[in-house]
Amino acid sequence: MSEPVLSALPAGHVLLTLRHSEPVNLHLQRLHFHCPALASDEDDQADDNLLLVFAQADAQGQWPALERAPQRTYTVRARQHDNVVVDVYLHGDGLMAGWAANAQPGATLLARPLPRSGACLRAADYPHHVLLGDDSALPLIGRWLERLPEGISAQAFIEVADANARQALAEDEDIAIQWLERNGFSTSQSQLLEDALTDYVVSDAIMDIDAVFFVIAGQDARSARMAQFLIDAWAVAPDAIHHASHWQD
Ligand SMILES: Cc1cc2nc3c(=O)[nH]c(=O)nc-3n(C[C@H](O)[C@H](O)[C@H](O)COP(=O)(O)OP(=O)(O)OC[C@H]3O[C@@H](n4cnc5c(N)ncnc54)[C@H](O)[C@@H]3O)c2cc1C
Repeated sequence: MSEPVLSALPAGHVLLTLRHSEPVNLHLQRLHFHCPALASDEDDQADDNLLLVFAQADAQGQWPALERAPQRTYTVRARQHDNVVVDVYLHGDGLMAGWAANAQPGATLLARPLPRSGACLRAADYPHHVLLGDDSALPLIGRWLERLPEGISAQAFIEVADANARQALAEDEDIAIQWLERNGFSTSQSQLLEDALTDYVVSDAIMDIDAVFFVIAGQDARSARMAQFLIDAWAVAPDAIHHASHWQD
């Protein structure tokens, strides 16, 4: 499949061309895209997201109106030279989940790089980071832990479908990871992250909650409730929380 020339792409968009695709495990597909336009050495911020746009140019190289094209947001798991890696949770029936499971090398997607949220810059002021997320947040958490600045410690709570979904993440004496497995419960009905958070904030592990930066990402209602719990019950400053709604029921 030949790539349209860059100048022919819709403004603000880049073309991702699938180089290869591999299962990380039964639940997660890793997509390696070729994308010279995103080649960058500035790989220090974990909240690096792309809006993937499902649109194809016609035979004359003309793109359809993008407002009506399906769009999905994904974290850039890694950038290596002109290679962009995206990890897709295979949650079931979904346009992107299906695309990721079936796409062959050469398949293309349009993508719009999204502005950084500023969370990584805000977090740098806090000596301890607590990250909570479901399968969709695993790429964010994985990259966040890899980029953890010197002298900052982290505790991650990661809720996944089952033990098979565990994966190797950054290891360091300052990093603790707890995997929470739903084992058949739906993500929307699960309370594993909420329970872990409630236990953690009353435990001795937190000496000073004002010194903690929280990253909460995943299903919309659950992550909103966890962020609100911290604000209401523990008077955590909203600035000390990065809350991202990743998907809705
Ligand atoms: C900033 C940001 C970063 C994200 N990064 C990633 C990432 O790196 N990897 C990743 O896998 N996802 C990520 N997501 C979540 C992803 O965009 C959504 O899960 C998306 O809806 C999946 O699209 P789809 O076409 O597969 O399913 P859709 O067509 O959107 O949804 C189909 C059905 O599946 C359900 N559904 C959607 N997502 C999930 C899910 N995760 N678990 C269970 N049910 C679901 C929906 O409720 C709906 O009923 C991110 C979202 C945001 C906002």
